[in-house]
Amino acid sequence: MYQKENRMLCYFCQQLKNANIIYCEYHAFLKCVKYDIVRQSYLFNWYVHGTDLHEFYAVLPSQNPETFKYVSIYIYHLMNAVNDI
Ligand SMILES: [Zn+2]
Repeated sequence: MYQKENRMLCYFCQQLKNANIIYCEYHAFLKCVKYDIVRQSYLFNWYVHGTDLHEFYAVLPSQNPETFKYVSIYIYHLMNAVNDI
């Protein structure tokens, strides 16, 4: 991440896609190129919805035990990748 105009921009997307994208939870969860492998392995093997912001917010508070388990597993691996900078 790097700072531009008091906003944290994603360093990885800037370097790999030449895109100035604000780094946030949504970006890391569903969009950032740095986490594509984690996303493919632990999210898109069960998640069949879109990657728009409203769908992101619809999945996180799920009361379905299976969805909760899979989201938790994905977040665990995503956070390991985030902390492995
Ligand atoms: Zn990014």
